Amino acid sequence: MSKRHLTILGATGSIGLSTLDVVRRHPNRFSVYALSAATRVEELAALCREFHPKVAVMADPGAGGALAELLADLPDIRVLSGTEGLCEVASDPEADTVMASIVGAAGLQPTLAAVRAGKRVLLANKEALVMSGQLFMDAVAESGAELLPIDSEHNAMFQCMPADKIRDPEAAGITRILLTASGGPFRNHSAEALRSVSPDEACAHPNWSMGRKISVDSATLMNKGLELIEACWLFNSKPDNIEVHVHPESIIHSMVEYADGSVLAQMGSPDMRTPIANGLAWPERIDAGVPSLDLFTIGQFNFERPDLVRFPCLRLAAEAFEWGGTAPAVLNAANEVAVAAFLDGNLCFTDIPVIIERTLATITVAPADSFETILAKDAEARECAREQIDLLPV
Ligand code: NAD
Ligand code: MG
Repeated sequence: MSKRHLTILGATGSIGLSTLDVVRRHPNRFSVYALSAATRVEELAALCREFHPKVAVMADPGAGGALAELLADLPDIRVLSGTEGLCEVASDPEADTVMASIVGAAGLQPTLAAVRAGKRVLLANKEALVMSGQLFMDAVAESGAELLPIDSEHNAMFQCMPADKIRDPEAAGITRILLTASGGPFRNHSAEALRSVSPDEACAHPNWSMGRKISVDSATLMNKGLELIEACWLFNSKPDNIEVHVHPESIIHSMVEYADGSVLAQMGSPDMRTPIANGLAWPERIDAGVPSLDLFTIGQFNFERPDLVRFPCLRLAAEAFEWGGTAPAVLNAANEVAVAAFLDGNLCFTDIPVIIERTLATITVAPADSFETILAKDAEARECAREQIDLLPV
């Protein structure tokens, strides 16, 4: 076992902190090369004091100076800022492993920098892959980067597949992927009750503790839609071969069915440190700090079909993937704008899919032939989604 040198993009977030919690348990296995945050200067400074990275990056170009001031007594830590700083630490030869845990489209360029530099890339930032699908996977193939899924469902699928055939389901004898979903906090809400849910209610997930954006995505089922697209790219599959199963206990993290009728499931407590530790140490297994699973307390597993009428975001994501080209990037951008508006109290929960659908209907889909095209469509879709929000009656 040689020591791994980590860059953690989005170190102050839910995934970033869980990653550092696993790292803390294994000082002989991991050293931290770089840490990044968007705006939380004090939190990042505190993490730098504990983990002593060689570089610390504030994504906000204006915040680098404030971090440098807080770390003035630690001159060995180089402070960078902006997207260039993020891309630099993601591709630096001193780091061999990059945890891509920035939330949203902001993670695309640094994650891609890590891919192009041929790193072991631990992918939590699903939005980057959803936006750029084929180009992202082509970049992985070209550089020889080792892309390992951290999203709990995809990590579960990965664990249930032969490691050398994850991109060739037919050769592996895989017939179907069963993508599990908790159903979110509003699984049993009526369509009427959904109209008036608050941001805090949406962020109070029954099983998982996560950042606010992904919590809202879980509540609308857009998270499952993004994960459907993510699974298609990671495992070279089609939406027809992936079936969403609402499983409110969140113990089975996903399943893979084989030609002989075998269905393999990966289970565990809903704690992201399990998939994170799996990716960090793969193919070895290490302690993640996760308590042992007690099935006697859980008692039973339930399954139901998702309701696409109350939760249209899952349908919209599947349609955007089938549409292809820049449609998934438009879907993602419109969703980010709508979720931010909902969290700010400027949009009601049930208008999130309305804004996404209108944006998808307005923006012309183009072939996703370059990252520049994708970023341009992302910007166009954001603008359009904001206009659509302004047009709604107050
Ligand atoms: P979070 O909001 O808790 O943390 C996000 C991190 O990204 C923070 O460190 C923040 O400083 C940084 N960040 C935010 N905006 C940025 C910007 N514009 N530029 C650079 N950095 C920025 O989010 P999270 O819940 O940790 O989720 C991170 C990613 O992991 C998301 O893509 C999410 O979908 C995915 N994911 C999260 C979980 C989970 O349990 N939290 C599970 C599966 C997948
Ligand atoms: Mg997930």
